[in-house]
Amino acid sequence: MIYFIGAGPGDPELITVKGKRLIGEADIIIYAGSLVNPQVLSGAKPEAEIYNSATMNLEEVLNVMKRGVAEGKRVVRVHTGDPSIYGAHREQMVELDKLGIPYEIVPGVSSFLAAAASLKKEYTLPGVSQTVILTRMEGRTAVPEREQIEALAAHQATMVIFLSVGEIETLSERLQAGGYPADTPAAVVYKASWEDQKIVTGTLTDIAEKVKEAGIRKTALVTVGRFLGDTFELSKLYDAHFTTEFRKGV
Ligand code: SAH
Repeated sequence: MIYFIGAGPGDPELITVKGKRLIGEADIIIYAGSLVNPQVLSGAKPEAEIYNSATMNLEEVLNVMKRGVAEGKRVVRVHTGDPSIYGAHREQMVELDKLGIPYEIVPGVSSFLAAAASLKKEYTLPGVSQTVILTRMEGRTAVPEREQIEALAAHQATMVIFLSVGEIETLSERLQAGGYPADTPAAVVYKASWEDQKIVTGTLTDIAEKVKEAGIRKTALVTVGRFLGDTFELSKLYDAHFTTEFRKGV
């Protein structure tokens, strides 16, 4: 059995109880060293074999998994945040299926959730936006034509953009070209939940400049939308006059 584990966004306490337990029981740990906080591995057995996948290709990762399983060892594969978001773990699962090796996935706290927590904001405000778009700009990995930034920006929903802060200038221009007014608030969270976390806030007009001044070039999320503002309607859920399944309105 291979366990894919979401390590969380950085703070070593933001891993699930299950993920932490499995790391503690593992004989072999393969972790995404470019982003996973090494402290997340602090509970590993001293004799555990630890591999940093940053320097490995898919075949090398699979070879370590195969050998581990053949030797009856417990193998865990640790991804940053949650593996389902830009984690490249589907291709590993496909190969494990071919080999007949079973696996389980333990979800993690994605960085986009840690970013909302750091910003002390809610992505889905009544009367503002009820939709969160998670996306990226194309880099070396292409993005399908119908998901181009301009097309997504047309909704003026809450947007969280991964893997794109290095091109923040182009990104903010394209968001405006797509339909967000120039005064739409934007916030960039660098290393959400890490000790050296940084937050830069502004609007689509000045966020690029501010991010450059702060020297942020990677490991950051760009969040955009009026959810960052202070105008919104109160929820129905806690409205005194609103009857829910659990509570009668007055
Ligand atoms: N699976 C991860 C995302 C991996 S893609 C998750 O669920 O969060 C890597 C990108 O995620 C980075 O380029 C950056 O845009 C973002 N990212 C990962 N960790 C981050 C953090 N702690 N703070 C801000 N952005 C982060």
